[in-house]
Amino acid sequence: MKKIFNFSPGPAILPHQVLLKAQNELINWNNLNFSVMEISHRSKYFINLVEEFENNLRILMNIPNTYKILFFQGGARTQFSAIPMNLLNYNQKADYVNIGYWSYKAMEEAKKYCKPNIIHVRKIINNILYIKPINEWVLDNKSIYVHYCSNETIEGIAINEDPNLKNTIVVADLSSTILTKKINIANYGIIYASTQKNVGPSGLTIVIIRDDLIIKNSYRKELPSVLNYKIISDNNSMYNTPPTFSLYLSSLVVKWLKKKGGIKYISKVNQKKAKLLYSTIDNSKIYINNISIKNRSLTNIVFKINKKNIENIFLQEAEKQGLYFLKGHSVIGGIRASIYNAMPLEGVQALIKFMNNFEKKYT
Ligand SMILES: *Cc1c(COP(=O)(O)O)cnc(C)c1O
Repeated sequence: MKKIFNFSPGPAILPHQVLLKAQNELINWNNLNFSVMEISHRSKYFINLVEEFENNLRILMNIPNTYKILFFQGGARTQFSAIPMNLLNYNQKADYVNIGYWSYKAMEEAKKYCKPNIIHVRKIINNILYIKPINEWVLDNKSIYVHYCSNETIEGIAINEDPNLKNTIVVADLSSTILTKKINIANYGIIYASTQKNVGPSGLTIVIIRDDLIIKNSYRKELPSVLNYKIISDNNSMYNTPPTFSLYLSSLVVKWLKKKGGIKYISKVNQKKAKLLYSTIDNSKIYINNISIKNRSLTNIVFKINKKNIENIFLQEAEKQGLYFLKGHSVIGGIRASIYNAMPLEGVQALIKFMNNFEKKYT
């Protein structure tokens, strides 16, 4: 069989070894003779699984014990509502940094609960997009928190520095950043991520929250219990039935990553993959990425082809070579290669080889 590489932006590629293990365990997990999907989330077997998962996340991400890890359903978008509902009283406000699509969507959702103060940080100089460094953001001192997205999965724009902001609470959407590189957790109040980009299948959302932000009487009486950080925390994320299979598969991915050498190892591989791909783009005459080097995404590499009506041919020929799901998001078009942790270096090398041949053929 020809080697296939899956560049899907999410749900995305999972480590092959993890899928093999899951396949192997599907009808007989933990020597129980049934699957992990068929047991109670309150059984000791499942509670052990979740505890181990949490523990491994703590070790991998170096999460201080002044932070709790909570699990939710509903994806990252549900946190767009949960965050203002949990953190803001009726007349309080928050800063929303506009970096790209997902930052903007979070701000739009927050409008239902507060008057978000939009922070503009994008600037284009000589056709290159720059994001203002965090220490130049002009925040409102009356805002309770500042929200941003560290990696704009659709546009391939990233803020690669950790925030260093005093006097505010930093809330960050790390859906496509989590576990790809080192994060200094102590610089954040809340980090959240849905799992389907880089941790596991869809259905699970991880929220890493500083203890003091779990507020005893959350502000809004209409806040649904399933989104109430205090209730979810008091119930160890088992207030209602969690997505057990997603938790199981994510726990396998985290174990896989730990065995490989953790964040230190994977971030080196990720750097290498991204660097190879960006230099292919920058050294070519037909591929263009006009995001400043500092703000380029580690995991979602976007580019356009500067010839008319050729992107569809590129996508069709790529697929014939076993390179799948390279189509850019419909809001920006072009090409996007998502190269999360599970994408091997080999996949990126195959894509580069294809890109070089394609360029020769069409110029
Ligand atoms: C995919 C994505 C989302 C949306 O996640 P859902 O789980 O579909 O709600 C939000 N933010 C970022 C950065 C994403 O990549």
